[in-house]
Amino acid sequence: MTAVSEHSGSTAGQSDASPGHVGQGGRQRFDSVRPDTGEVLASFDVHTAEDVAATVSRARAAATWWADLGVAGRRARLDAWRVQLVRRTDELARLIAQENGKPHGDAVVEVTIAIAHLAWAARNAGKVLRRRRVNPGLLAVNHSASVEYLPFGVVGVIGPWNYPVHTPMGSISYALAAGNAVVFKPSEHTPAVADWLVDSFAGIVPEQPVLQLVTGFGPTGAALCEAGVDKLAFTGSAATGRRVMASCAATLTPCVIECGGKDALIVAADADLERAAEQAVWGSMFNGGQTCAGVERVYVEAGVYDDFVERVTRLAAGICTGNQAGAHYGPITMPGQLEVISRHIGEAVRAGARALVGSPDSVRAPYVEPVVLVDVPPEQAALTEETFGPTMVISKVADLDEAVEAANSGRYGLGASVFSRRHGRQLASRLTAGMVSINSVLTYASVPGLPWGGAGDSGFGRIHGPDGLREFARSRAVTVQLFDSPLKVATFSRPDRAMAQLSLLARLRWGRR
Ligand code: NAD
Repeated sequence: MTAVSEHSGSTAGQSDASPGHVGQGGRQRFDSVRPDTGEVLASFDVHTAEDVAATVSRARAAATWWADLGVAGRRARLDAWRVQLVRRTDELARLIAQENGKPHGDAVVEVTIAIAHLAWAARNAGKVLRRRRVNPGLLAVNHSASVEYLPFGVVGVIGPWNYPVHTPMGSISYALAAGNAVVFKPSEHTPAVADWLVDSFAGIVPEQPVLQLVTGFGPTGAALCEAGVDKLAFTGSAATGRRVMASCAATLTPCVIECGGKDALIVAADADLERAAEQAVWGSMFNGGQTCAGVERVYVEAGVYDDFVERVTRLAAGICTGNQAGAHYGPITMPGQLEVISRHIGEAVRAGARALVGSPDSVRAPYVEPVVLVDVPPEQAALTEETFGPTMVISKVADLDEAVEAANSGRYGLGASVFSRRHGRQLASRLTAGMVSINSVLTYASVPGLPWGGAGDSGFGRIHGPDGLREFARSRAVTVQLFDSPLKVATFSRPDRAMAQLSLLARLRWGRR
């Protein structure tokens, strides 16, 4: 990466992607820009389809070498990487804070959670992916049966910018632990963090390019989908997820798609209201609300609505943004998102909503101050589309049935939270979300053994946990004949009596309830 000249600051409505420029040798380059000051941090190549194909081709040999290391060899290297990440957390967090804009403390939390996942994946890959014996069943009683889990080979990982370490590492750690090489295309907004990660891995595994970086915009990502990778792990918006699937369809490349959300939080009348309010404010405002599974909608039972709203209003009014020490969150990383946030707030207020904290004027590029809205009509974008800003919409519901119905409405189904002393599990069981926290928000993200993923426009497939390891392995079923079967039906020399024996067996084994 190369440091280049100063840049102007971000403004609402500005195009998101720096358009790129021609660097030395005629290559297209683009700048990584600090979202708070507009300063250029570094510049990177815009990799072409040919560059991406060459990178995937290099990854092929590396994949074989990495797979041949075996579980123990890979674990030793992943553990060494983990130790290095722990030692260099502060350095990485400082880079995240500069390039993404979040406070240093939030960046430390992000890196630490990513490290927990890396440790879990390395420790558990052997156990989760080892050959497993399977009961052969009646029809193959003369066989043994087992299933093996093999690496795909080369996995492409396409990531977003909002958690530039934790999010892509949720795929990278599990794909590497499962024995694959990885080609990583990070967001054009956070290439420097990705470069740091790949560089740190190469310091631990210098022998082969097991984890490689390609940089650029959408076309570079599309090229990765079409470059013949054996699996593609995408995290980003639902709109791009659809394009990624279309690109993967051309080569029948399997993919896991992790997209956005419009997560709901339900407050029951028996909830600990102070905790619910504190967690709702945190869940909707931390990282400036730029969290896929952040709280965007809150449904509160009528009996405690006024009390809850009063608590949220008090807490949210104390939240401050900026790049100064002590700020609770930083700028909106992607300039174009400011227009979306502004539109959601403005349209809601024009439709009759009341802003109890903030107002449409709270959007002051590159920052957005906290906004709490009530009385928002249900069809408003503030309640149906991903806002991705420090905004919270609180709605009053008559009872918990109405809360569940409202929470399950809409296109997304990523995460959800429920606050109740007695009904938490029961409410959680009725939600369509892929992940639910009871009496907290987003806790599932920090539990490596749990799967991560959603439904509907939030995507499909799972990263993290045993499901995440299996997502990056292909299964192979194996049977071994142990002795000759007296029941000869799978042969052209099938004797007549074999069919009668088969019918008798079926009647005896499956013909009764
Ligand atoms: P995005 O969809 O704009 O971009 C994501 C990545 O896709 C980037 O690297 C981008 O360069 C690449 N890309 C763009 N066009 C492409 C194409 N045609 N083919 C292949 N790749 C292409 O998303 P973003 O703005 O970077 O991230 C924010 C979104 O990500 C939000 O919707 C957020 O909710 C979601 N997100 C989801 C999760 C999750 O785990 N479900 C986690 C973090 C963020």
